[in-house]
Amino acid sequence: MRSLSWKLGGALLLMVVVSVGMMAYITNLSTTREFRQYISHGNMMYTQSVGDSLGQFYLQEQAWAGIQGILGNLPMSENDRFIIADISGVIVGDTAGEWLGKAVNEVGLDNGTPIVASAKEVGTLYLLSSGPMMGMGHMGGQGGLPSSMPMFDIAEQDFLNRINRSLWLSGLIAVAVALVAGLILTRQITRPIRALTKGASQIAKGELGYRVKVDSKDELGSLAQSFNAMAYSLDRSEQARQRLIADIAHELRTPLTVIEGTIDGILDDVFKPDHEHLISIKEQTALLTRLIGDLRDLSLVESGQLKLEFAPTNIVDLVRRKLSQAELRAREKDVQLKLSVSQEVPDVSVDPARMEQVIANLMTNAIRHTPVGGSVTVSIGTVTGDSSHQIEKPSLIISVADTGEGIAPEHLPNIFERFYRVEHSRSRSEGGAGLGLAIVKQMVQAHGGKVWVETEPGKGSRFYIALPLTAQ
Ligand code: ADP
Repeated sequence: MRSLSWKLGGALLLMVVVSVGMMAYITNLSTTREFRQYISHGNMMYTQSVGDSLGQFYLQEQAWAGIQGILGNLPMSENDRFIIADISGVIVGDTAGEWLGKAVNEVGLDNGTPIVASAKEVGTLYLLSSGPMMGMGHMGGQGGLPSSMPMFDIAEQDFLNRINRSLWLSGLIAVAVALVAGLILTRQITRPIRALTKGASQIAKGELGYRVKVDSKDELGSLAQSFNAMAYSLDRSEQARQRLIADIAHELRTPLTVIEGTIDGILDDVFKPDHEHLISIKEQTALLTRLIGDLRDLSLVESGQLKLEFAPTNIVDLVRRKLSQAELRAREKDVQLKLSVSQEVPDVSVDPARMEQVIANLMTNAIRHTPVGGSVTVSIGTVTGDSSHQIEKPSLIISVADTGEGIAPEHLPNIFERFYRVEHSRSRSEGGAGLGLAIVKQMVQAHGGKVWVETEPGKGSRFYIALPLTAQ
């Protein structure tokens, strides 16, 4: 596998090598050109100054006679060969002494620098060099070098070479520095990615408590934060799933133990298979059936798979029905059931069967928690809105109030959770599995409504349901 570090490092190195190479090449070209211009300018000045001295000589002498004798006194370099021709092209001076008396075209000289005295051309100066030299076109085909291709002498070439060497050396140093910096940079970039990869594989292995360390504030930092948030929610769901399984197992065990014990007792002739024991088995199986039904409803409504059959429903009639069904239970406990309808209540679009289930759960709880002689009141009314409960649309409000023990504030945030019970040790015959209010909440929410509770410990509780009056 080609790792990201290699790709990033390779790209960086390529960029540095290309840019340093181009920089060195361009600097080399321009240095050579500038240096050439500098040398040629110097040469021109040099030839000019020799020409000026010769002009002065001619001005004094009015002839070229004797020039050969004083050539050594002229300000010229020993390495250079100067040839002076008079106005008719005959060589009158030659620092090498070789071509004296010959015509310039005979020896193949051309492009000389005119020698001027009192604004009059009096001859021509040619510069030749024995070694490679910077010619201003003075080579005239001599020395075997083309006149169009200027050359540097050895010292000048050496100078250029030294410059080139330092250029390439600094280029190499730049590449080395870039390589080290690139390595550090690449490691810094890929470190959080490696940490994320490790985190992902730990989570995949089931280690849901694993978190990636976030120390950068860039995009990778926020990716790591999102990763941790995802891991946190996965962890929570997994814990909830395990808790749910444990809770279900726990809730199933109690009735099953009672059924098994009773049947064992009958089989071992400890109990008679009489009405009392069969009723006990029937009650426990009914409990199991209700528990499984509640769980099924809850999981369907939570996953959004519960099909609600909406129909215009008169809620007052529905509540009346539920009150009369609860009448017997309430009378047994000497609990008074009341209905309070403050105004004309319009029909609402709900699933009547599910809404009956909701009202029944609330009434069962209320009767269960109300002491002998107390009362349970169901009130029905409407509101146009209620900002304290985030109700924006006109809604129907149903409340179930009791005169029971109320709910302590520390339990309030949890009572609508699955399997949450305030008194854990309470026997099943007195209470449910802690699913009643969870079902109420989920069903009401599936109807687009809201549920909340107001309670005063020692005085009673009032559970509210708000259902939108407009059709869902
Ligand atoms: P359960 O089936 O155990 O009653 P619920 O989900 O219906 O579970 O209720 C959760 C908890 O809320 C119960 O354990 C109970 O203690 C508390 N509770 C519910 N209704 C009332 C009420 N009217 N008065 C006091 N406590 C209540």
